[in-house]
Amino acid sequence: MSSIATLLIVLLLLAPSGQSPEAAAKLRVVATIPDLRALTEAVGGDLVEADSLARGTQNPHDLEIRPSLMVKLRRADALVVNGLELDAWSDVVVQGSNNGRIIPGAAGYIDASRGIQPLDVPTGRVDRSMGDVHPLGNPHYTLDPALAPAITATIMEGLARVAPEHRRAFERNRETFLGRLEPALARWSEALAPVRGAKAVVYHNDWIYLFRRFGVIQVGTIEERPGIPPGPAHLARLIQRMKEEGVKAVVIEPWSDRELAARVAREAGARVVMLNAKLAQGAGADAYLASTEANVAALSQALR
Ligand SMILES: [Zn+2]
Repeated sequence: MSSIATLLIVLLLLAPSGQSPEAAAKLRVVATIPDLRALTEAVGGDLVEADSLARGTQNPHDLEIRPSLMVKLRRADALVVNGLELDAWSDVVVQGSNNGRIIPGAAGYIDASRGIQPLDVPTGRVDRSMGDVHPLGNPHYTLDPALAPAITATIMEGLARVAPEHRRAFERNRETFLGRLEPALARWSEALAPVRGAKAVVYHNDWIYLFRRFGVIQVGTIEERPGIPPGPAHLARLIQRMKEEGVKAVVIEPWSDRELAARVAREAGARVVMLNAKLAQGAGADAYLASTEANVAALSQALR
């Protein structure tokens, strides 16, 4: 074998392209919750390999921190967090991952709430006696599809920080996603127009962004305070109020106390509807749009 041929073989073996080209080029991005994973995939497209720490069936408020979560972050190029303290537990996971590229302040740390105007920001002092109150405002903004343009803009900037050579591709992917979102938003507004002004009670205060967007009125919550189970006096007052105001639906999420919600609904003459508080299955833009579509359909049915 000529020395040149030998040299070429050695170079080929040493080159990182010894892996498959896609695997070598893909950015590894982890989101804390599946909604943000889907929106990251919508922006990242083929250039990104995305994963999420919480599954869609887990209450994102209090995720159990396991070593397997830290392993997921160890080789991540970027981390997308919800922020507003929904996923403050991710700080511990980041520390345990020993990955300096995704610590708060690093280029690979993407806080998706940065472009959001939070609702329900408490005005007075917040302490533990008030329950799991979020001092920075209600963190459940990903449930309003009309905020997806702002969220994906923040994710796009973050990914472009980590991989500036792909900025144009990320922009194009985002434009494609927004091109699908826009007609869907128009369809959802139309579907919910007949129930504008209808009243609902929620188990946990998850839905105010979506409700405000589509004109649904929230009369109360089954939880007496966020994350704290209700006492009998609170429930009696709530049921009374639901009857007086003609509340149509009690909105629950997969981890709510279903028996309690069913009892409240029955006594107040309302129906129970379970919505996808977090993306339960699938990935990418398709899953995000399908999950929102299902929520809108279930809500418009329940509020009739
Ligand atoms: Zn919450």
